[in-house]
Amino acid sequence: MFKQNKRLIILISALLIAGFLLTSLASYFISVASLRDHVANNELPLTSDNIYTEIQRDLLKPIFISSVMASDTFLRDWVIRGEQEQTEVTRYLKELKEKYNAFTAFFVSEQSRNYYHADGLLKQVRPNEPRDAWYFRVRELPSDYEINVDFDMANNDAMTVFVNYRVYDYEGKFIGVTGVGLAVDAVKKMITHYQETYDRDILFVDQQGGVRLSSAEISDSENYLKELERDAETGRLLKEIAVADAGSFEYQLSDRTVLLNTRYIKEFGWYLLVVQSEVAGTGELFNTLLINLAACALITLIVLVITNFTISSYQQDIERMATTDKLTGLYNRQALDILFRQLVLNLKRRPTEMSALLFDLDHFKRVNDQYGHLAGDAVLEQIARLTVSRLRETDIICRWGGEEFLVLLKDCDIAIARNMAEELRLSVLNNPTDYQQKQINMTISVGVAGYRPEDTRDQLIARVDKALFKAKRSGRNQVAIDD
Ligand code: GH3
Ligand code: MG
Ligand code: MG
Repeated sequence: MFKQNKRLIILISALLIAGFLLTSLASYFISVASLRDHVANNELPLTSDNIYTEIQRDLLKPIFISSVMASDTFLRDWVIRGEQEQTEVTRYLKELKEKYNAFTAFFVSEQSRNYYHADGLLKQVRPNEPRDAWYFRVRELPSDYEINVDFDMANNDAMTVFVNYRVYDYEGKFIGVTGVGLAVDAVKKMITHYQETYDRDILFVDQQGGVRLSSAEISDSENYLKELERDAETGRLLKEIAVADAGSFEYQLSDRTVLLNTRYIKEFGWYLLVVQSEVAGTGELFNTLLINLAACALITLIVLVITNFTISSYQQDIERMATTDKLTGLYNRQALDILFRQLVLNLKRRPTEMSALLFDLDHFKRVNDQYGHLAGDAVLEQIARLTVSRLRETDIICRWGGEEFLVLLKDCDIAIARNMAEELRLSVLNNPTDYQQKQINMTISVGVAGYRPEDTRDQLIARVDKALFKAKRSGRNQVAIDD
């Protein structure tokens, strides 16, 4: 019985836990997925659009200025005339730099290899000087310009974003490179400003997957981007980015999901990445999940306590019903089997005297016939009550059959048992049952027998039954002893 209860409790727990877990987790993951979906398909692209617009305004300006410089007839005429007055070009560069608030403005001539900037002639570029390599790269460039992040020799080697524009004469012959530069710090500030405004990480990545520019404050995002680069997935990321001009990507890194939106900015040859590493709001969803799970655990616990309580109280009822006589509340025959076995075990350990009484109501059939069955029941109840009140608490009283009762008297020899039987007989004789203003008199015949070691239950019953038979045969309303 106990084992079955345990199994039932385990089954209910398993069902409740599985059900709760399934619904809680499902709703959590669905919410997170829809939130991510919303961020990836609505918020990030919008942010990306906004940032792209601002970048066009802020970063495309230097490209525009550089292109104006490259097609300026003054600059080209001055070169074609043989770079006569250096102050003229210097003033021109200074004017442009100040007017457009650039970090630097420069021109390098192909024929003289002179490097001019706003403060004068800086140097001559040479093919085998590594720091001049940029010039010889731009010289061979198939397109009109490039954007390059490099050190500015004219400004204490400050990190600078250069726009390098090729200049041609009127016949289309290459005559030099001009352009402006923006301090990377300024660009970084700009990106940081976007980042703060839009609360997203912003990076520029070149076609090789290297981070070219990012806001100064996003050390964290650089870390996860490095992780992305290292990741085997990265090959896929970069390939996907390279084939798509723009797109939304979701990546599972070691400790988080990263959402990113990319777009190719062809003027730079770079990709703009707008990245969100932890989707805002998933934390709240996770907290809700924890609260849900705690509530589920509590409910499970309460259900289990209630179930356990209900089962055990039902079980007690059933056990009581199985071992108790309904009419008199005494033990029934099944209970006696168990109790007798226990008594015999105890006697083996600690041998004492034990006696048995078996009594039967005299001419009980007449009561039923004369007063009805309910009156008979009342008499049985009355006699059961009398017996209980007469005997000790340790004695075992059992309704053995219809109107027969068996009593086992512990620590009691046959002489005392006989006295007790006599007292019981007198008590029944002197206490008629009141039933519907009538008094029903009743007597009992009692058989007495002592327990002998090695007696089986049936042997003891047989002897006490024999004694009862003797009492009946001798005229009823008396006590007889087995001898
Ligand atoms: P005797 O002195 O020989 O024992 O006579 P008796 O009439 O008591 O003997 P018998 O065994 O023939 O009758 C017993 C009767 O008890 C028969 C049965 O209907 C009645 N009886 C058994 N159980 C119940 C019960 O629960 N309620 C009632 N009212 N009667 C019962
Ligand atoms: Mg009888
Ligand atoms: Mg009988």
